[in-house]
Amino acid sequence: MELAELIGLRPVPVAGLLLSLTNRCPLHCAHCSSSSTLAGPEPAAEALLRLVESFGPADRPDVLMLTGGEPMLRADLVADLAAAARRAGTRTAVLTGAYFAAREGVPARIGRAIRSVDHFSVSLDAYHEREVPRAAVFRLLRTVLDDGVPVSVHAVGSGPDDPYLSGLVAATRLAFGNRVPMLIGTVRPVGRAAAWAAAPAPRPAPTVPPPVAPCAMAAWPVVAPDGTVLACCNQQAVDRRPAPAHLVLGHVATDDWATIRARALSSPVLRMIRAVGPIHLLARFGAPVPAGGQCRACHSLSGNDELRASIGRVAGGPVGELLDRRAAQVQRAAGPISFLRRYGCPSYAAQVAPGYQESA
Ligand code: SF4
Repeated sequence: MELAELIGLRPVPVAGLLLSLTNRCPLHCAHCSSSSTLAGPEPAAEALLRLVESFGPADRPDVLMLTGGEPMLRADLVADLAAAARRAGTRTAVLTGAYFAAREGVPARIGRAIRSVDHFSVSLDAYHEREVPRAAVFRLLRTVLDDGVPVSVHAVGSGPDDPYLSGLVAATRLAFGNRVPMLIGTVRPVGRAAAWAAAPAPRPAPTVPPPVAPCAMAAWPVVAPDGTVLACCNQQAVDRRPAPAHLVLGHVATDDWATIRARALSSPVLRMIRAVGPIHLLARFGAPVPAGGQCRACHSLSGNDELRASIGRVAGGPVGELLDRRAAQVQRAAGPISFLRRYGCPSYAAQVAPGYQESA
């Protein structure tokens, strides 16, 4: 599975499951969004396996995305989860910081985990390079490609003008041609970067009514390191406890995939967040829109029972289901480059499918 296919599925509700295997990590990257250390929480292996084993051939996500922390700290679990997912027809991707790459030769357990997945991604940016040299990551990528596993690099920089990003893209193309697609984003002021990263530029004042702005981050359920299953992968939602009620889908200790999937698809509020976005939603129902952007507006929904009841009357039936499905169809048809123009660093969006020529 190539990166472009994976990203192309990202706006499709329940097409994927994001699973944080651990909040632990041996690296100390200055921008780490999850502030990972070697002491963080991690869900029980049995609960994660039970969840993935509950996938059925006709009721499963297309993609299981394993993240952390550092998922390769649980390399045997990566291999076991990928095997269980494959039995149901689900493909698995893993994102690692490659802490093990600094030494030549891939440790046997980690090699087995890498060969068990359908896509292997490495985080590589200025902050990771202080921990794991670029040459070591490139050596690892060559080994994984030689094993026949598709790879990608996930990078972040300070913005489109960051010279590090243009240098990294040039070096990656020189070393691998178009064999290594890249997902390139911007460092956000969350986790360890909260103290120093620049906040995104203020958005222009919203028009009246505010534009429709579907939130695709509510499409794939997310298993947080404490086992809570959330509808949103935004780090602030993943970290916040109690989590906003409308973003909670369950817990790995108690819920199977069919239950989580049904909750994600049938929630009127989630349908509308995915179809029109929270700011448009609040304005449409005459509710005050707090300053601070989409996520602040979204979180304000959890304290407003009356508003959620009104949304339920509009989006609880077939109309809400249709709106949700249509919004996903439109975003999927626009493709992964369009998706990353919204959610990544726009000027590098085409690196998700290097060599692909967009028609004018
Ligand atoms: S708008 Fe809501 S669902 Fe979307 S990223 Fe923000 S908190 Fe998550």
